[in-house]
Amino acid sequence: MSERYVTPPHLSPDEFRRQGHAVIDWIADYWQRVGEQPVLSQLSPGSVRDRLPTEAPMNGEAFEALLSDLDDVVLPGLTHWQHPRFFAYFPANSSPAAVLGDLISSGIGAQGMLWSTSPAVTELEQRVTDWLSAAIGLGAWSRNDGRGGGVIQDTASTATMTALLAALHRATAGRARDAGVQDGKAYAVYASTEAHSSLLKAAMMTGIGYQNVRQIPVDPRTQQMDTTALRTAIERDVAEGICPVMVVSAVGTTATCAIDDTLAIGRITAEHGIWLHVDAAFAGVAAVCPEHRRVLAGVDEYADSLVTNPHKWLLTSFDCSAFWVRNRSALTGALSILPEYLRNAATASGDVVDYRDWHPQLGRRFRSLKLWAVMRTYGITGLQAHIRSGIAMAEQLETLILQDDRFELVLPRALSLVCFALKDADRTEQLMNAVNASGVAYLTHTRLQGRFVIRASIGGVWTTPADIDHTWQAIQQTVDQLLETEA
Ligand SMILES: *Cc1c(COP(=O)(O)O)cnc(C)c1O
Repeated sequence: MSERYVTPPHLSPDEFRRQGHAVIDWIADYWQRVGEQPVLSQLSPGSVRDRLPTEAPMNGEAFEALLSDLDDVVLPGLTHWQHPRFFAYFPANSSPAAVLGDLISSGIGAQGMLWSTSPAVTELEQRVTDWLSAAIGLGAWSRNDGRGGGVIQDTASTATMTALLAALHRATAGRARDAGVQDGKAYAVYASTEAHSSLLKAAMMTGIGYQNVRQIPVDPRTQQMDTTALRTAIERDVAEGICPVMVVSAVGTTATCAIDDTLAIGRITAEHGIWLHVDAAFAGVAAVCPEHRRVLAGVDEYADSLVTNPHKWLLTSFDCSAFWVRNRSALTGALSILPEYLRNAATASGDVVDYRDWHPQLGRRFRSLKLWAVMRTYGITGLQAHIRSGIAMAEQLETLILQDDRFELVLPRALSLVCFALKDADRTEQLMNAVNASGVAYLTHTRLQGRFVIRASIGGVWTTPADIDHTWQAIQQTVDQLLETEA
């Protein structure tokens, strides 16, 4: 043995087993007591950092030391996304089954950039994305045995950028990847003013440019894209020699969960040969329930790509974003590159899919394991039960709001998202801040026509009807106090 060889202090497999059990116990305890914690971390900036040593230990410590700091230092600095009364943004479900699947992925530690670097990573992902596309009712266009297919990406933002790269490749007949978009020609993309900011970011990153995102107005009552305005914007650009690259249909906008009319948008994109990307990051998974499939109406007929996030509402720990394309050749055409060190017989045979060509990065985790764990242990009926229970609790909240004449529903409830405000408009922000400061629940807001509106986004793994009642009581008490101080 070389004299320079020193055995590094790995945890032995047996020590790992012991510590691993302790970690699983810690997580299970965390879930059991998370509902007793204030939802929103109350710490001031810097207070976690100040409690951590400024330098790494020179010699390794026992793993127990880390576990105890987890309780003392980390926990107070957490906003508890798995808290049963976390109603902010959209949920980020982390179910027990998904956590176990993710742990297995880490333990296996395979990097699935090529089919040949672990055939199971690619083939399980193909099967599971097929399962999910069938579960949400997508047609054959999305399956991996045809010209299209599915892939798991880190986030919807990355998936939307990927869609834009593929769309640009198609719109420029391949010129964009080789010559870039600095060819003196202008390109444009289109989405409603309510579509997610990831499209603007994608336009910035692809070189299309922020200014070339046409933000199409919405109908103020429904928050849906005005498709007449879309048509006008496209026709104006075409007349001026600007090349329309992609239109995004927002299926579940982040502010209010508005659902664009993908069918009407698709008729326009089909007429002009423009790539149609459907951003169903939050709402798409609701289609596991047949009664909610209408959110995806028009997708089978017209979409070139679609993204939905199991890591939001479908019980699969972040990150897990499912992305499908109708024609994978635009994708691989835009992104495929084969340096010598990645050449291998399987790739050369053309018989396999190399997922490195389906997203910006090369390396990739074995993410399908957690979705596989979720889909197998819940089954389709279990997934449906989760979606339906989230919607039922949103209905419960909606009913409570309607019974209190100090409040109003600003828009009709959309799936599990409830947008409401005090009729006394100036007080709504104060109310939300006071509820959040109390630690009972965590709510975030949006603005509609300038008006401050509270969004209650239901759908956590551990939320029960009692949590809705508890939250509503806290909201009512807070309003009582606000009105008292005023009197
Ligand atoms: C949450 C959300 C996104 C961004 O999701 P990431 O996966 O975090 O990138 C994009 N679009 C919509 C409509 C969203 O709700």
